[in-house]
Amino acid sequence: EIAPRQWVNGPDMWGAAFPRVRDDGHKYDRGHALVLSGGAASSGAARLSALGALRIGAGLVTLGAPPSAMLVNAAHLTAVMLRSVGDADALTDLLEDRRFTSVLAGPGFGLGQRLDAVLAVLLSADRALVLDADALTALAVDPEGACARLRERAAPVVLTPHEGEFGRLFPDLKEQPKLERARAAAHRCGAIVVLKGADTVIAHPDGRLVINDNGAPWLATAGSGDVLAGLVSGLLAQGMPAFEAACAAVWIHGRAGVRFGPGLIAEDLPAQVPGVLSDLLQR
Ligand code: AMP
Ligand code: MG
Repeated sequence: EIAPRQWVNGPDMWGAAFPRVRDDGHKYDRGHALVLSGGAASSGAARLSALGALRIGAGLVTLGAPPSAMLVNAAHLTAVMLRSVGDADALTDLLEDRRFTSVLAGPGFGLGQRLDAVLAVLLSADRALVLDADALTALAVDPEGACARLRERAAPVVLTPHEGEFGRLFPDLKEQPKLERARAAAHRCGAIVVLKGADTVIAHPDGRLVINDNGAPWLATAGSGDVLAGLVSGLLAQGMPAFEAACAAVWIHGRAGVRFGPGLIAEDLPAQVPGVLSDLLQR
């Protein structure tokens, strides 16, 4: 049993670990985030994630999409690179490139055989991982098996469920208070758990808990969580330790929402990140 220790989220906790750009830095020094996309109709979510990863400073972001989504992604993205990832074999080939330093899967991915096969590859891949949305729902088909596989991994995993996704993955915890649920889930899966909501709780398997309350209600909008998952993956790609990366991403996401104000849609969030970073890095 692990005694929880709690903090309120803020830059004092993770500012020192936040990636700094070297004056003579190369883009590959800033990491390469791989974001996996679903089919054409739901591909917008992964584009939002990719933009989040790029805005928070990943040197390169590649979107791995099924062939059906290549054209729509190409029409909507410029700085984000595109690769065809039709199936798990294509992903395995792509991951031979060691320069990919983080992988995100879930937003708009779509449930089904392609996702199950891709998850099997990712769970055994030696890369920092962010799992959100459909990836969490797919893991919830066998929650105990999923946690057992997550625990075996050496590279870090960040899970970013909202209440619905969390409830499917950890159905037995539903009677407990939010802090307790996040803590138990992180401990069980050996993963960083970001339990989202008006207040977001970030839990480390060692019992550490962070409560984030800097958000704004207009963050409750379609695609908002997809941007957050991209922010986490962009920080992981730059080598930031996973717990600090999760806390920083949630805080920056909250500030970005406050900064934009009412009328926010998810498309607006990546564009707010530079302003939040300027304030943060000049502290
Ligand atoms: P998702 O449900 O995956 O789109 O994620 C929604 C995102 O918006 C998460 O980061 C939540 O923490 C955030 N969020 C949702 N509702 C609120 C709220 N009322 N106040 C602040 N943040 C919120
Ligand atoms: Mg979501």
